[in-house]
Amino acid sequence: MPSPISRTVAVIGAGAAGVSAAVELRREGHRVVVYEREEKLGGTWVYTPQTETDPLGLDPTRDVVHSSVYASLRTNLPREVMGFRAYPFVATGKPGRDPRRFPGHGEVLEYLRDFLAELGVEEMVRYGREVWHVGMAADDRRWVVKSRRSGGGGDDDDEVYDAVVICNGHYSEPRIADLPGIDEWPGKQIHSHNYRIPDPFRDQWRTGDVHLNLLALLEAYPLVVVLIGSAASADDISRDIARFAKEVHVASRSAEVDKIGKFPGHDNIWLHSMIKSVHRDGTVAFHDGYKTIADVILHCTGYKFYFPFLETNKAVTVEDNRVGPLYQHIFPPSLAPWLSFVGLPWKVVPFPQFELQSRWIAGVLSGRLTLESPEEMTADIEAFYSSLEAAGIPKRYTHQMGESQFEYDDWLAAKSGSPPIEEWRKQMYLVTGRRKRSVPETYRDQWEDEDLMASAYQEFKLLKL
Ligand code: FAD
Repeated sequence: MPSPISRTVAVIGAGAAGVSAAVELRREGHRVVVYEREEKLGGTWVYTPQTETDPLGLDPTRDVVHSSVYASLRTNLPREVMGFRAYPFVATGKPGRDPRRFPGHGEVLEYLRDFLAELGVEEMVRYGREVWHVGMAADDRRWVVKSRRSGGGGDDDDEVYDAVVICNGHYSEPRIADLPGIDEWPGKQIHSHNYRIPDPFRDQWRTGDVHLNLLALLEAYPLVVVLIGSAASADDISRDIARFAKEVHVASRSAEVDKIGKFPGHDNIWLHSMIKSVHRDGTVAFHDGYKTIADVILHCTGYKFYFPFLETNKAVTVEDNRVGPLYQHIFPPSLAPWLSFVGLPWKVVPFPQFELQSRWIAGVLSGRLTLESPEEMTADIEAFYSSLEAAGIPKRYTHQMGESQFEYDDWLAAKSGSPPIEEWRKQMYLVTGRRKRSVPETYRDQWEDEDLMASAYQEFKLLKL
């Protein structure tokens, strides 16, 4: 086999995906530059009380805030499952750290900082540099990456790379529900991207200030809130808000008929089917027949994939939230392996998957691993899209994985010569999911998987040897 080739690679974003990509690319011998718009690493995990100037996050001219993390957020996965395989997420025992098994967001950020420091990635990251254009160089082979100082400070820079790995995250560009009658509905709307914590001194909701602090508002004026969504943040936020709101009505497309009605253990939260229509007098009508006059609609309705800087001459497009065509959610056949994406799948355990995706990309770029031909990749993508269509799965769920994630991870592991995902990790993920559904209030603080924890810590100990 020819010796591996060292490439110049630009990584866009220093969240968990970008940092993982940088580590794997460097391990393979590539020369890596990571561009990060913010002044620090961590992406999603960099909590800020700041919210955007458009609470729905739709105005393209709004001041963009990257993170969607709210103050009360604790992880929805146990730390053993969540961490990178090469760098377990264990409690450090250091002062000021959060030792809980499902820690707060600050602990995840600290963990990512430790990872960066330990693996020496820091010198590869250019902080405060926003990439505003990625496109083909004149030689039609390499990539030009154009960046500038974040916040419009100029200092434009163009650099040419053999390959680009896109790791810009996908929890910053809100999707909102399409509600019949919304143009006439008089209440306030907000997307969960802009949900944080009270700041009583800045809240001016009723007088029109755009800085939203919903909890402070709810304390002052007990409101009726309709929250749309059923994913993890909808679960958390509905309970957070219910401490202050008069009523919280959760509208969910997937509400099971026998669960419609009051949330167990709560006096002021109700589950409904989806919203049917909203009206000029403030009424919100649900498909289950219930109607209420509401003050606020809170959209916990997810996000759009968004790559405003990427110019591929239509080789990669985003259509109804499908980024494609991509082979195994990573490589566009016509540009592979020189353009790749890390971190597109959702409803997954992200960090270990980032490692596996990155390792494969790194190995293919160096020539150590062989990639299928463009024709083979295209045939595989077409078969995948057809299978989604045959199962009646809309395009927007192309990158949703859930339980199929481990099959995908193991496929990637086999491709890149890594061991498959650990059995304890798979089981722990499934057990956590079940407990989250059956005991949503307590699953983060009480558990029954000590045997799986023992296997995990046994393995972590071996890693340290
Ligand atoms: P991000 O963390 O979003 O990082 C992307 C980076 O790219 C950012 O730093 C951004 O500034 C940078 N960037 C973007 N555009 C540019 C540009 N043009 N130029 C330069 N830099 C750019 N996962 C879990 O494992 N457990 C959890 O409990 C969990 N809870 C979550 C809760 C919420 C509310 C959300 C939104 C997500 C949660 N996740 C959770 C998923 C989480 O997003 C992933 O864990 C992971 O952090 C995503 O990493 P990423 O690197 O793909 O994206």
